[in-house]
Order: sequence, then C-alpha cells, then structure tokens
Amino acid sequence: MAKQPMLKFVTVDQATPEKRPPDLRKQDFQEIYAEYATEKAAEQAGRCSQCGVPYCQSHCPLHNNIPDWLKLTAEGRLQEAYEISQATNTFPEICGRICPQDRLCEGNCVIEQSGHGTVTIGSVEKYITDTAWEQGWVKPIVPAQERTESVGIIGAGPGGLAAADVLRRQGVQVTVYDRYDRAGGLLTYGIPGFKLEKDVVMRRNEQLENGGVEFVLNCDVGTDISFQKIREKHDAVLIATGVYKSRDLGGPGAGAEGIVRAIDFLTASNRKSFGDAVPEFDSGDLNAEGKRVVVIGGGDTAMDCVRTAIRQGATSVKCLYRRDKANMPGSQREVANAEEEGVEFVWLTAPRGFTGGDKVEGVMVQRMRLGAPDATGRQSPEVIEGADYVEDADLVIKALGFEPEALPSLWGEEALEVTRWGTVKSDFRTHETALPNVYAVGDIVRGASLVVWAIRDGREAAEAMLEHFNSKTGAVAAE
Ligand SMILES: Cc1cc2nc3c(=O)[nH]c(=O)nc-3n(C[C@H](O)[C@H](O)[C@H](O)COP(=O)(O)OP(=O)(O)OC[C@H]3O[C@@H](n4cnc5c(N)ncnc54)[C@H](O)[C@@H]3O)c2cc1C
Ligand code: SF4
Repeated sequence: MAKQPMLKFVTVDQATPEKRPPDLRKQDFQEIYAEYATEKAAEQAGRCSQCGVPYCQSHCPLHNNIPDWLKLTAEGRLQEAYEISQATNTFPEICGRICPQDRLCEGNCVIEQSGHGTVTIGSVEKYITDTAWEQGWVKPIVPAQERTESVGIIGAGPGGLAAADVLRRQGVQVTVYDRYDRAGGLLTYGIPGFKLEKDVVMRRNEQLENGGVEFVLNCDVGTDISFQKIREKHDAVLIATGVYKSRDLGGPGAGAEGIVRAIDFLTASNRKSFGDAVPEFDSGDLNAEGKRVVVIGGGDTAMDCVRTAIRQGATSVKCLYRRDKANMPGSQREVANAEEEGVEFVWLTAPRGFTGGDKVEGVMVQRMRLGAPDATGRQSPEVIEGADYVEDADLVIKALGFEPEALPSLWGEEALEVTRWGTVKSDFRTHETALPNVYAVGDIVRGASLVVWAIRDGREAAEAMLEHFNSKTGAVAAE
C-alpha cells in the first residue's frame, strides 16, 4: 500500500511566502512537497486499471502512450516513464498543465466512465516531465549530423516550435521568425501565468536556441521582411501564425474608453509578470485593480480574463454569456474554478450597447432565452424583449473569439489558398499548402484550437518536410 503523505495539509498555495507556516523553511517545504507530489503521482498512476482499451490514448491528439507511462510511474520508474512520454509529445509538461483533459484523455478514462473519477493523467504527465527537468534527464538538442536544408518558420507558438524541435534534431537549419519579442506565441503572451508558469515556456525556448534554432524576433513578416523573401531564403517554409483578429462588438458606446480586447488585457498582464514596462497597465487602462469588471464571452479566453481580473484585485467580476451554462464553449472545470474564486456568471445575457460618455459606465444588457435548434442542432439564443437592464462596469473585456488575419492580401501572395473562413488550406496529412514547399499548421489552419493540436500538426509537418528532403537526396531518415 502506498505510504501516506507526510504532510497532508501542504497545498501549492503554501509555496507563497505569506501563506507558508512560519516554522516551515523553504528548503523543508520543497523537500516535503516533492515527496508528497511523488506519492500523489504514483498513487494516481497506480489507479490506472490497464484496461486494454486505452480510450485515453485514442482521445489524446498525440496518441500518447498513457497506460505505459502510468504503469512505469506507479512502479517508481520515472525516467523510463519520461522517455516514453517525450517520444510522442514535444512539450509534455505544458500539455499536462493546460490541455482541457476533461474533453480529451481524462474525459475518456474507463475509470471515469464507470463513475469512479478519472486518473489525473495531465497532472502525472506534468509531474514526470518537471521531474525530468529537475533531474537533468531532458537532454539538449544535439543533431547526429548537420544537414544543408534550411526551413523558415513563421510564428514561434507551439505549432512552429514543435516543428522546429523535430527538424533541428535531424540537423536541419531552422530559423523562426516572430513579431513578438519573446518566443512561445500564446503560451507566452495569451495563457495566464497561473495556468502556465512562464519559466516553463522560457526554458523550452532556451533549449531550442541552445540546440541551434535561430530566432529572429520583433520581426513581423509582411512588414519587416516579405513572405517572398523568406521563401527565397529557405528550402521550405512553415506558416504557424495563429489567429489574432479579435471578434468585435457594435452598438451605442462601443468605442468608449474602458472597453478593451481580451488579448490586449491578457498580454499586458503577462508582460507585467515578466517585469516589462507596460504603460497601459500602469495607467490603469489594462488593469482591473479596484474596478467593476464585466467580461463578455463564454469560452476559455473569457475564463482566463475573469480569473486574471480577480487576481488583479477587481472589486467585482461578472461574465455575460448569451447561452446557458450547459451550452457554453468553455471548459466546465474552468467555470467551476472561476466560480470558486468569486466570479459571477450571468447566463443568457448579451450586450446591446454601453452607457457612459467617453468612458464606459455600464453595459446595456438584453436578456436571452434559448429558442429552436439551428441547422447544427444547437439552440439559438433569442432576445426577450422589454427585459433589458444595465450592468455597472468600469472595465469591459471583449472575449468573443479570434479569426485569422487575411494572409494572402497582407503578404501579397494571392496564390496562398484560404478557406471561406480565412484559414489557410493545407493537406491534412502533410500540411503542405497550395504553394509548393510551403506548409501551414496550428490555429491558422484549424481556427482557434488547442496547444496539443498545434503540437501534433507541427510534428507532422516537420516529418513531411524531412520525407520530402530525403526523397530529393535519396537519404534515409535518421532514427
Ligand atoms: C487566452 C487564451 C487561452 C488559451 N488557453 C488554452 C489552454 O488552456 N489550453 C489549450 O490547449 N489551448 C489554449 N488556448 C489556445 C492555444 O493557445 C492555441 O490553440 C495555440 O497557441 C495555437 O498555436 P499556434 O502555434 O498555431 O499559434 P500561436 O500560439 O498563436 O502562435 C503564433 C505566433 O505567430 C506569430 N505571428 C503571427 N503573425 C505573424 C507575422 N506576420 N510575422 C511574424 N510572426 C507572426 C505570433 O506573434 C505568435 O507568436 C488559448 C488561447 C487563448 C487566446
Ligand atoms: S497531451 Fe493532453 S490529451 Fe494528451 S495525455 Fe497529455 S494532457 Fe492528455
């Protein structure tokens, strides 16, 4: 039987100095917590029934070999568990932290299905790789031999970086271009630090840089360098630019001060956590402290905004969503977290406009009900006439989702085919676009999606490029 944790009351919160009991010195705490975490991971891993029908694995976009690394973890063979885990996932510690496991691996765990609560697969995955970093099992990228081919990757998010990792390990010359000053894409500037600590992302960036990946940052492709120039410079190009055009709101007062985009709010908060100078945060424009905050939207970005606003010290945080709780797109786990932290959800409501003058003072809210199902079978929200009211607000955050930028016109490359939604068309297996030797992955192909899907796409596109290079040179891919 597993040994009982030595210190049952230890929680992650106690890692912060003000919450740590005075007699518990930092080193003691870390040792005790490490032991507790090991036992917790082993205990969870040991709950896996090795059912033989690993739905968890088939519902993981990377088809991670979950049963095997759970078994090895339960047996205390962590290094072997890590080797298996990293064989299919470029960033297991990141996925372990931020995959919506309730919709993927854990939601399909046989033990969960039988009503006994899922094995916490994501936490174990995170634990295995965090341990691997601590123990020095995560090896630097050292290609067996250098290759002459070069690949230009536009976008340093998880899709681009996963491809960079696979290519560089095979000795390909890789240059990653990004318009931000740090690599990581939404891992760095979108997802809040309380879900994904920034040092976890930065150490991966460093690993790639130390492994020979060249980063060209503060470089907006289309402005600072043309897409055509990048194509000329490299044997193949990967487009991994994500989706950044925020859906907007209209109505009276929509342009007032104090109505901001979710991405700006979250980026400012993340920049602040890096210690950057962020004038819009310091001026209060993108800071929720002491404000009545209303977030509009029901997806995961909205959940990140409400939880960030709470942490910044907002006096109240309300989330307006036009459907009900059962029909919201965001993860139910995230809603539960937000509710626990004091966020108030106002279901079946939508903004009609805004009150106030130059500066917003409130949201004119119309109440909704769910009507007949539309073509997709989803009930459409309908306005209840005469039931409007005003929700007071000092800061309104629009979190209505993202769309792709119009790359063909922005880059003067009309032959780059896009769908009617503006996402780049690419082969579902090789990820090659209509332009020869130009590939595309992640959100710019799928629309706003998930980190784990971007990683899968990036890995697959890199494999397809290697296959293509090898077919030209007649070489056999290195193991
Ligand atoms: C607030 C928020 C929270 C999220 N939370 C989660 C979560 O918890 N779990 C999860 O799985 N997913 C989450 N997602 C979704 C996830 O972040 C994305 O699906 C994923 O990051 C997509 O990866 P990507 O590589 O395609 O693009 P991105 O991560 O968006 O990276 C694209 C990169 O391309 C760069 N770029 C764009 N255009 C240019 C250009 N012209 N020139 C140079 N560089 C350019 C950008 O600067 C960026 O660095 C969240 C998204 C948001 C917005
Ligand atoms: S990558 Fe995501 S879906 Fe796959 S096992 Fe890890 S947490 Fe689950």
